[in-house]
Order: sequence, then C-alpha cells, then structure tokens
Amino acid sequence: MNYPNYFKSYSAFLLENYIEELTQNVIVITKNGKFPVCRFLIQLPEETIYEKIRREFEDILQDIIQGTPHNSLTKKIDLWKAGKSPISRKDLTISDINSVNHIIKTVILDFLKFYECSKIELIALVKEITDYFQTSTEMGIYAFEEIQNEVQIDRDEIIHGILTNVPVIITRINQEGEITYSAGKGLESLGRKENDLKNFSIYHDFIFPENIENSKLALSGKSVSYIGRSRSLSGEIREFQNYFIPVNNGIIGFSIDVTERIEAEERFRSFIDAVKDYAIFKLSPEGYINSWNEGAEALKGYKKSEIIGKHFSIFYDNELKEKHFPEYELEQATLHGRFEAEGFRLKKDGSRFWANGIITALFDKNNNLVGFTKITRNLTERKLAEERLRRSEERFRSLIEGVKDYAIFLLEPNGTIASWNEGAKRIKGYNEDEIIGKHFSVFYTEEKKKQKYPEYELVQAGIHGKFEDEGLRVRKDGSTFYANVLITALHDTSGKLIGFSKITRDLTERKFLEESLQSMNTDLENKVKERTDELLKTIKELKRINNDLDNFIYTASHDLKAPISNIEGLISNLFEELGEQSLLNVDLRDIKEMIDISVEKFQITIKDLTEIAKIQKESLETVELVGLSELIDDVKITISDQISRNNAEIIYHLEDCNEIKFVRKNLKSIIYNLISNGIKYRSPERNPIVKIMCSSDEYYNTIICQDNGLGIKAENIDKIFNMFKRFHDHVEGSGVGLYIVKRIIENAGGRIDVESVEGEGSIFKVILPKGEFELH
Ligand code: ADP
Repeated sequence: MNYPNYFKSYSAFLLENYIEELTQNVIVITKNGKFPVCRFLIQLPEETIYEKIRREFEDILQDIIQGTPHNSLTKKIDLWKAGKSPISRKDLTISDINSVNHIIKTVILDFLKFYECSKIELIALVKEITDYFQTSTEMGIYAFEEIQNEVQIDRDEIIHGILTNVPVIITRINQEGEITYSAGKGLESLGRKENDLKNFSIYHDFIFPENIENSKLALSGKSVSYIGRSRSLSGEIREFQNYFIPVNNGIIGFSIDVTERIEAEERFRSFIDAVKDYAIFKLSPEGYINSWNEGAEALKGYKKSEIIGKHFSIFYDNELKEKHFPEYELEQATLHGRFEAEGFRLKKDGSRFWANGIITALFDKNNNLVGFTKITRNLTERKLAEERLRRSEERFRSLIEGVKDYAIFLLEPNGTIASWNEGAKRIKGYNEDEIIGKHFSVFYTEEKKKQKYPEYELVQAGIHGKFEDEGLRVRKDGSTFYANVLITALHDTSGKLIGFSKITRDLTERKFLEESLQSMNTDLENKVKERTDELLKTIKELKRINNDLDNFIYTASHDLKAPISNIEGLISNLFEELGEQSLLNVDLRDIKEMIDISVEKFQITIKDLTEIAKIQKESLETVELVGLSELIDDVKITISDQISRNNAEIIYHLEDCNEIKFVRKNLKSIIYNLISNGIKYRSPERNPIVKIMCSSDEYYNTIICQDNGLGIKAENIDKIFNMFKRFHDHVEGSGVGLYIVKRIIENAGGRIDVESVEGEGSIFKVILPKGEFELH
C-alpha cells in the first residue's frame, strides 16, 4: 500500500510530537459528548482508555508510515457507505476540541473512519486544521467583535476590508428566520453579490434540511458548527463549514466554502477503500488467534467461528512448524517490537500462497506483553511475477553468456565494459576479470583510437539508436581480426541513456571463405574460358576439315568425271579396234564386261559424290512452299517401276502440314530416299507398305516415314547415316542416300531420328523447323 508521502511524514510527525496531546483530545471530545459514537467509553477508567487509544493510534500511524494499512478499518468504511454501519456522516466532520491545556483546536475528525469499536478500544486519527480556520473564521469573529464593541475607528473601512478579502460569508438572521444581512468574498463561490441573500427565509428558501435544523438550533440559543450544502446561482452544489452564533436578536453566521477540501477527503477515502488484500488479526501472547477480519477470511479461507482460539501455526507447513518458526517469529516481535517475514503459508484448503507477514507486539503501560497483531499480505502474484522475471533474466543471461560465436557485452554510457560473455572471451581473448571496467577502445587499432573512432561509434549509436560497422579489431594478444560490430543504445523508461549493448562477430572465417570462393570462381571462369576457346578452336578446325572434305568431294567428283568418261571412251575404242571377232574370245568378253561394270559403278559413285557436294551449295537456294502430297506423288511417278515391281503400297496422312517451306529439290530428295529405301529393304515375306504422316505445331513440321520392311539391327542404327555405310548387300546401293538426307535436314536446322525393329520395319522421323528455330 502506498500512502502519499506527505501523509506518511505527517503521521511520523504526529507519532513523534503530538501523540499524547492528540489522544487526550480524543478522550476529551468523547467525554464532552460532542461525539456520539462508543458512549460506553466514558464509563471506563480514563487511564485504560488512554492507554489503549494511544497504542492503537501508534499502530495505525506505524502502519501508515510503513505502508501497511489496517484493512479492517477500510472494511468498516465500506459497511458505513453501504448503510450497514452506524457511523454517520456527521461523525466525520470538523470540530473544535479542548486540548488538555484548554486551548481550542479545530480538528477534522476523519480519524473516525479508522476506528474499530469493541468494548475497550477506540482507534483514532486526528488532523489538526486550526491554522486554516484561524485565517478565516477567527478574523471574521474578531472583526465582528470589533463591530459589536463599537470601537471608534472607521468601521466601514474595516468591514469592507474583511468582507472583500476573507473568503467567508457573514450572515445575520433574525428571530423570524429571515436573513437581514449577507456579505463577504465567500459569496463569489455561490455566484452572489452583497445582500443578494437579504430577505431569504430559512424556512422557505433554505432547501437543504441541515441548514434549517442548525439555524433553528442556533435560534434556540446554541452555537452550532456544521457542514451544510448550498446551491450556487449556476446550480452547482457547494459545501460550507458554518458557524452559527446566537446573539441577542438572532444569529450571526460565518460560512466557509470547504467543497474542495471535502472532495480531497473523499478522494483520499476512496483511495483507502481500494485496499483489500490484507488479512489482519490478533494473537494472544501465546500465539492463539483472538480476532479475525474479513480480509483474513478471504485470504486464508477460515471463517471467524472456525479459527478463533486456534494457534496461528496452523498457517505454517510442517517443516516450519518443526523448526518452531512461528514461535521464533513471536520471540523476535517481542524482542524488537516487530517482525517481518516472507514465505509460503497454508490456506484452509491446504493450498499455499506466498505471504508477507508483519507481527507487531502489543504491550500495556507496564510493558507487559498483551498480544500481537498480525498483518498478512498475499504476494503470490508478485512472487510469481518476480519469479518469472528472475527466470527469464536468468535464461537470458545464461543464453548470452553461453553464446560462443558472438561477443556480447554491455557498456556504460561512457564506454566502460560492464559485462562479458563466453563468445567475447573466445573472440577477444580476455577473461571477464581482466576486461570489466576497461574502456572498450582497447579493441581498436592505434590508428582508430587516434581518430577517436570508438567514441564516434557511441555518439552515432546514441543519436540513431544503433550503429553497425565492419572492420579490423584487436585481440588481447595484439593480433587483429575482421569484425562485424553492432552497438545498440539502451534507455531506461524515462528515456535516459543507461548504456550500450555491443555485439561483435568474428568475420575472419567468412572473409576467408568469401576470398577463397572468389578465387575459386575466378579459376572456374578461367577454366571455362580455356575450354570454350579450345572448343571454338576445335569447331573451327572441324569446319575447316568439313570444308576441305566438301572441296575434296567436289573436286574429286568433278575431276574424276572426265578421266572415267575417257576410260569408257577408250575401252569402247579399243574394242572397236579389236573388231567384233575379239568379243568371240570368251576371256576378252568377260574382261570387257567387268570393265564396263567397274566404270558404271565408278560413275554412280561420282554421281553420288556430286550430289553430296551440291548439298552445301544448294542450301542457299530458294525456299518455297512445297505441297507435300504433290511431292510424294511426284516421287511415286519417279519410282513407279520399283513400286509396281515390288507390289508396294504408298499411303500418306498429312493432316495440317500439307505445305512445307523448304527447298523443293531437297525435300524431294528426303522423301525419295526414305520411300525408296522402305521398298528396297522390304521383307521377302510381305508386300511393302510405306506410310507417310505429317504433323505440325507452332514451331515444327514433323514428317514420319514408316515401312514394314527388314528393319535395322539395333547395333547398326547409329551408323546408317554415315557415308558409304551399308548393312544389306542383297540390293544395289552406295550407302550415300541417308548421309545426304541427314546433311540436308541438319543444314536446314532440323533433325532425323530412327526407330527400328529387325524383321518388323523402321520408322524415320524428320523434324523441320518452321522459322528460325533449330534442333540439335
Ligand atoms: P543405300 O540404300 O544406297 O545402301 P542408304 O544410305 O540409303 O544407302 O542406306 C544405308 C544403309 O541403311 C542401307 O544399306 C541399309 O542397310 C540401311 N537401310 C536404309 N534404309 C533402310 C530401311 N528402310 N530398312 C532397312 N534398312 C535400311
């Protein structure tokens, strides 16, 4: 419980200086009967009351000073508020009391809020407000007396001075209850002017009953002092401390606006009401419970009837009981007046809660121990919160301490090192005891230190909240490492800079990795470049060889043509010269036939070579839209002999690619070779059927030529496109046809594939790009 500090110091002041006088004041009031509660008090010997009150009063003051309020008292106030307690509002008002030396003191009797009334006790707190009233009331009364005595001075001036300066309303009421005079600065708070209230009747115009009652009392000859309400012109209700003094022919009234003061009191009261978490009970000198409050019932779960008379060790677990801890507490309280302890205590249902308990020893005036009060607070929540905080702090600390890859430490605002972790030790080489208290600039190179760079970093972190940097840092042994550094400024809740956290990472390894990666990359790039160069060289070489080959083929076919024609001519000349007779000679005739066959073969080969040589040159020839079906028909006419001789059937399904952009002659050559091979390498077991199909998509035309012939052995499939390669000798051929087909297709950026099953037939698939696309 936090009482306001001024209240605590006021209580301390009371305790030290005025306690005697004030407690006697209370008794005086009680005996005078001005104060209607606990009337039986007056029947007790004065000394007993005095002692009891003093002690209780001291306890309360102590509690206030220590911030541990009497919960039971605030409960009383609750009851009173709820209309269940007899304390009336009037008991809480301002009164004049006679102190022992008969000096009148004005006190505010809110101490009655803090009373607990049993047969022998009264707890009270008094606030003296004499000074406050002296300034206003007494000046008013004094002035009035001056006027009454008709002192020969300028009365008007005095009255005017008082009425315009003192915040009091002075009224005169006649025997009929009519206001005959009203003046004073105090009228301002009602929005009224001098004599505004004149002619008001207390019976008709006073709307609040307390004013009527007290006016009547005063008219009957009694002085009254009470707090009453008044309504201002604007409708606001204000509270006044009124003093009505009977005079010869009526009343003189002094009224002071105390609205703000009462509001402040109310705020204070509700602040006290908010305190609910205390168990307060009394113990006999031996530790038996002899009082029990509602807070105690709420906290510990025992009803008053169940617990009174039991020993208070019932709240302690066996371990503490065995150690006689409850008895120890009472001993200590007896010795020192007071004992405070924290620990787990038991509730009725056996559950435990974390409690703070204060035991205060009570003595009578002869210093005999008469018992103890015990105030217990449930601190479970606070304990749990503290525990959670402690654990999370511990976890955090051990986490930080255990981190090995990062140096994490704290700096004071001036850069002095305040904490150190495992990572810091590992990276920088210092042990905790060597480095704490040193300035963090020890980690910087001489050059950086000269530049005041460490200080610069802190300033930057202070301005921007954090500062990140990479660079060389120095280890304990003087060696350097490449570090990443992050400094974060730390502020308290009020925003004040309380230091910095610094996280340093050793980047040496990363830097090394980065560097080796870099050099590996460069190596790789160089290698790739070398390879590419080599490859380009090889391609260039191959191109040259290819070119040479093409030239050779061209030259050969061209240059051989004439000599072979010559040989052919010369042979026929020779045999003409030899005459017809020579052919009758069997040997000679055989020789001539053999020569003829060789020459013919030679010429076929030359023709084929010429074909090949032409392909390169023809690739530049005009591309046109070639109708595929016409082309196939054309081929069929060309090989009609072969078709009819073999009873062959040529079928085609061309779908959407009837027209293909290509060099007509070349496309014919492809189709011709594929169809004629399909017939030529027929199976003796069936009539040849050659199917031609074509499909087309966005980029390619695909022509498929399928036959039901002999098929090709798997091991030969890759070789059939090679020049002069043949795998069937039973029919004439040169092994050049498919080579030419492949060259034509590849020159056009396309591709030819073959699938074949020996004994069943072959499928040739020709893929030709429509535009720029090439297949490889
Ligand atoms: P040629 O037909 O003049 O021998 P090609 O280059 O056209 O030359 O064919 C090479 C070889 O491939 C042929 O000798 C033959 O062994 C094989 N061949 C080609 N087409 C087929 C086919 N449709 N069926 C079976 N074998 C074939």
